[in-house]
Amino acid sequence: MPLIESNEHKALREAVASFARNHPHTPGTDNRRFWQDAAKLGYIGVNLPEAYGGGGGGIAELSLVLEEMGAAGNPLLMMIVSPAICGTVISRFGTEAQKREWLPALADGSRLMAFGITEPDAGSNSHRITTTARRDGADWLLTGRKVFVSGVDIADATLVVGRTADARTGRLKPCLFIVPRDAEGFRRRPIDMELQAVEKQFELAFDDVRLPADALVGDEDAGLLQLFAGLNPERVMTAAFAIGMGRHALARAVAYARERTVWSAPIGSHQAIAHPLAQAHIDLELARLMTQKAAHLYDAGDDTGAGEAANMAKYAAAEACVKAVDQAVHTLGGNGLTREFGLASLITAARVSRIAPVSREMILNYVSHQTLGLPKSY
Ligand SMILES: Cc1cc2nc3c(=O)[nH]c(=O)nc-3n(C[C@H](O)[C@H](O)[C@H](O)COP(=O)(O)OP(=O)(O)OC[C@H]3O[C@@H](n4cnc5c(N)ncnc54)[C@H](O)[C@@H]3O)c2cc1C
Repeated sequence: MPLIESNEHKALREAVASFARNHPHTPGTDNRRFWQDAAKLGYIGVNLPEAYGGGGGGIAELSLVLEEMGAAGNPLLMMIVSPAICGTVISRFGTEAQKREWLPALADGSRLMAFGITEPDAGSNSHRITTTARRDGADWLLTGRKVFVSGVDIADATLVVGRTADARTGRLKPCLFIVPRDAEGFRRRPIDMELQAVEKQFELAFDDVRLPADALVGDEDAGLLQLFAGLNPERVMTAAFAIGMGRHALARAVAYARERTVWSAPIGSHQAIAHPLAQAHIDLELARLMTQKAAHLYDAGDDTGAGEAANMAKYAAAEACVKAVDQAVHTLGGNGLTREFGLASLITAARVSRIAPVSREMILNYVSHQTLGLPKSY
């Protein structure tokens, strides 16, 4: 893996950055137009196969696009879900018909897909999920609940992680179903979140939702492999989302610190202000290096290596983002807490990457057990 970014990647970064800067965005307002314009330029489907309307790139390119959008203050949370998780899973495990139906539409921005795995009684312990699919003739009947699923209202369908009726207990043998937004028995309720984002989170209920046989993506017996085909890209993309947000906050703080003068020199000349900003920059750069490594391993087909690297990248990026945002807010003094300067709402937003899609503690558990071979407490 080259440690220096290729010229193609640099050019893609610059193009996305300039595109995103030309589409200034107020958090919480409709960003569909931005999504569609980005899709027209090939940014949303850059990772999807060319044969199905995508750009033929990988998670390396897609994560770079998301990072640059975030750095410009215009992140697209649904990129973590629609092209990265759903697009990847369908590309790798979908039938020819599913690929034809979904991939060109996900790439050109005309359709979106959400992703639901989290359940109220399972949380971080996915092995406890109980959303269950049982056969009824050629169809499936899906029953269960999900929580915190993002963008279900704006998505045409949700890729739902369930388990089959004969695999109700024991270790998780996940199976994935495409559930159309308006399927009968599929209900959603928005959760009142303290987040200023247009992508809302929902509690979902599936009450004997009837799905045709071809709603199942991949093999019902393929198990965790198919799921992690989607979850590793999700972690890499969340890392990119966090790095973008951290860079955005840091840039705002640096610009302010260069100008704001309350003694005889700008506040940025005081090391108490400058050094933490420099540290935030270093932490973000380091997190980006790990994110690039994880994306590279994933795109090279090393799912196991990518698993460890994606976890570490997500951890490093979330911690770097939380610290960068905190320091940025502090740098602006009272202005850091005004709506006008737009940084205070990032305090909440930055925490998302520490919790989702897998919490900081669960990553530390993963590294303790899988990498260091330490025993488990649970
Ligand atoms: C903004 C947002 C968007 C989201 N979008 C989606 C989405 O689109 N689709 C989806 O499926 N989900 C989504 N989620 C859900 C997210 O993935 C979960 O919130 C996350 O996995 C944590 O689960 P939980 O909230 O149930 O926390 P819990 O599992 O209840 O954990 C609570 C706390 O306990 C800690 N903890 C738990 N177990 C251990 C342990 N063994 N050792 C040490 N500490 C432990 C955790 O680290 C955490 O700090 C979203 C969440 C948010 C906040």
